[in-house]
Amino acid sequence: MSENTTNQKKILFVDDDTFLLDMYTLKFSKAGYETKAADSSDNALKLLRDGYMPDVILVDIVMPGMDGLDMVKAIRTERLVPNAVIIMLTNQGFPDDIARSKKVNVDGYIVKATTIPSEVLTEVEKICSSKKA
Ligand SMILES: [Mg+2]
Repeated sequence: MSENTTNQKKILFVDDDTFLLDMYTLKFSKAGYETKAADSSDNALKLLRDGYMPDVILVDIVMPGMDGLDMVKAIRTERLVPNAVIIMLTNQGFPDDIARSKKVNVDGYIVKATTIPSEVLTEVEKICSSKKA
């Protein structure tokens, strides 16, 4: 069976937790996404500066080195992937994260601690379709 890859959505995961990266990559690959993972903001920015154009970027906030919000600021300042849907992965117990995410103008946020991969997939698709509408 030949697969139609032209509509395949590209998603970039940015998280310092490689266990989560593996889990999300597996889940989204199975759902037909083309996935890439970066374990730091610097590695993600390098991919984007090199011309990688994902449709969706899922970004952890708390990471060693540059945090996810500063990474999104850099994406905005450098006008990298202007059409990408950017979703922050926030931790439970950090209510400030949501307010800070709104300031850098992201498309949505998902609370990581309570979200299993299939729910993350559902949330991502919900956020993407509401952006298109
Ligand atoms: Mg983290």
